[in-house]
Amino acid sequence: MTRDGAVSDWSELRQAMVEQQLRGRGIRHAGVLEAMSRVPRHEFVPESLQRLAYEDQPLPIGEDQTISQPYIVAYMCEAIDPQPGMRVLEVGTGSGYEAAILAEMVDVVYGIELLPNLARNAHATLTALGYRNIHIRVGDGSLGWPEAAPFDAIVVACGADQVPQPLIDQLKPGGRLVLPVGPHGVNQTLCIISKNDDGTIDMRETFPVLFVPLRHRA
Ligand code: SAH
Repeated sequence: MTRDGAVSDWSELRQAMVEQQLRGRGIRHAGVLEAMSRVPRHEFVPESLQRLAYEDQPLPIGEDQTISQPYIVAYMCEAIDPQPGMRVLEVGTGSGYEAAILAEMVDVVYGIELLPNLARNAHATLTALGYRNIHIRVGDGSLGWPEAAPFDAIVVACGADQVPQPLIDQLKPGGRLVLPVGPHGVNQTLCIISKNDDGTIDMRETFPVLFVPLRHRA
């Protein structure tokens, strides 16, 4: 396949993904749909798996980690209603794909990834694609990023037993935090937390999910 041929094929696959997996299942946020029809997801997966990049499934990205299924990325992004002007924290940057989707819509994305190799790859991919509004740091994202806080929204791509308190603390009043809660492999639920103006929180459980676990050490 020529390079040009491949490029147009990718964009067709991407449109089909957006129509069938996202719009067809109720994703309505125009910014999310546009971002997901623009960002080349195949650039974020290992070359040997690129042909599967637009399928309805998560994929391995090395180091026993995965890039989330497109629908889950879209759902989590939609849940925080990304808008220009927002500063967003992402915990578990992995391949950098979700950070790129968010960076298409908000002012700045702060991504924390525990594993140095993945953080390095994500940084290289995002730089090659021209993103200048994503900052990536290696570390334990359950501690948040205090120097860059507070955030308008926080997205967590790994499952914790409990909601890490620093993330609630680093959320602006009126902000949203979306994360999988529950022990690894069983009974994880995708939760959407809203922080009220008086600092209290409301938590809504959505549906069961299966994310890699949030770990504290590489
Ligand atoms: N959003 C990513 C999904 C990556 S999977 C993407 O679009 O590709 C979740 C990631 O969370 C993994 O890369 C894993 O290494 C990372 N992770 C696990 N525990 C973490 C922690 N405490 N802090 C930061 N990242 C963590």
